[in-house]
Amino acid sequence: MSDFSQFVPPHIRRLAESNQSRPLKQSGSSAKPIALNLNENPFGPSPLALKAIEAALAEIHRYPEIQATDLHEEIAHFHRVRPDQILVTAGATELLCMISRTLLAPGLNAITSARSFIVYRLATQVTEGSLIEVKTRENGYDLDAIADAINANTRIVFIANPNNPTATLVTADEVDRFLTKIPEHVLIVLDEAYGDFAEQFAQKRSVTFSRSLDYVRQERNVIVLKTFSKAHGLAGLRVGYGIGPARLISLFAPLRTIFSISSLAQTAALAALRDSEHIRKAVENNFEQAEVLTAGLTKLGFPVPPTWANFLYCELSEDAAPFAERLQASGVTVQPLRLWGAPTAIRVSIGTSEQNQQFLDMMEKVVR
Ligand SMILES: *Cc1c(COP(=O)(O)O)cnc(C)c1O
Repeated sequence: MSDFSQFVPPHIRRLAESNQSRPLKQSGSSAKPIALNLNENPFGPSPLALKAIEAALAEIHRYPEIQATDLHEEIAHFHRVRPDQILVTAGATELLCMISRTLLAPGLNAITSARSFIVYRLATQVTEGSLIEVKTRENGYDLDAIADAINANTRIVFIANPNNPTATLVTADEVDRFLTKIPEHVLIVLDEAYGDFAEQFAQKRSVTFSRSLDYVRQERNVIVLKTFSKAHGLAGLRVGYGIGPARLISLFAPLRTIFSISSLAQTAALAALRDSEHIRKAVENNFEQAEVLTAGLTKLGFPVPPTWANFLYCELSEDAAPFAERLQASGVTVQPLRLWGAPTAIRVSIGTSEQNQQFLDMMEKVVR
């Protein structure tokens, strides 16, 4: 029989060959490790969302509402924009893939920073466009270098703000200045998955985090990404959304997989959006514990750049993969960052005070 892969377009075949898009299976051991590897809410899901899901369970034989109309309207109301400026998807990840498939083609490119969100690479690889990763400056986005890298074939710039995995921020003033340099054939994706946490740090540190929604109201070529996976605690349900000018939203919307936002996801997200108490709890714990974790790691001799998100970027100065395995064996899961281009660093999510203490205790053992 002939090799069927010869009929698969080369850019897709390369994905199957490298198979790097498949992350490691999470530990199957019986004792549940403390999961500090995926930046989830350490207090679990929004209780209001849980209640809403229970009430909706008896209806899961029905297809979900096809346009998720209520959710679009509530999110629009929440951010004080119009419903046609919102696009809800199965996680922000689905929207990143839709944006890439809409705008990229052979010869075209997207730009982001090195050591940034791994989904930007995955989303562009399934198109025939390429991804340019611009060198970081002080562990974060170098917006001047990114503006310089834009050429006639650039269609997208992805900016994770705060950045995952380095936890750095570009301030509202820096983004304002950056936008003045952007030609009209380029879409700026402002990925604010960690916006709730960043807002808290920004207030305490007296800087302005973001004016992203103003750009949308001014009809600029900007899409702002938000998610229910982080502060709201709904990562397993897959709901996220974009906010952008209606003329752009309507270009991306047709690529969404039909019915991709399940009925339980819609119900839960509606409830979680209004659960300000749950978000406040996560954000306040995060602000306090960021300090505790940073101090603990510094004391152990590991430099940690100031975080603006719900995780820390920690340079180990040794191969992080075996180090993370040793930590895993003692019951704490963290993310080693080789695939992100940082083979000697880990990303550790900020947990509850008990989880963080346990992590620091294990670090001390593993180091010694
Ligand atoms: C977690 C994360 C998201 C959200 O992904 P979902 O698909 O909504 O779970 C988006 N951007 C960044 C940078 C993230 O770290």
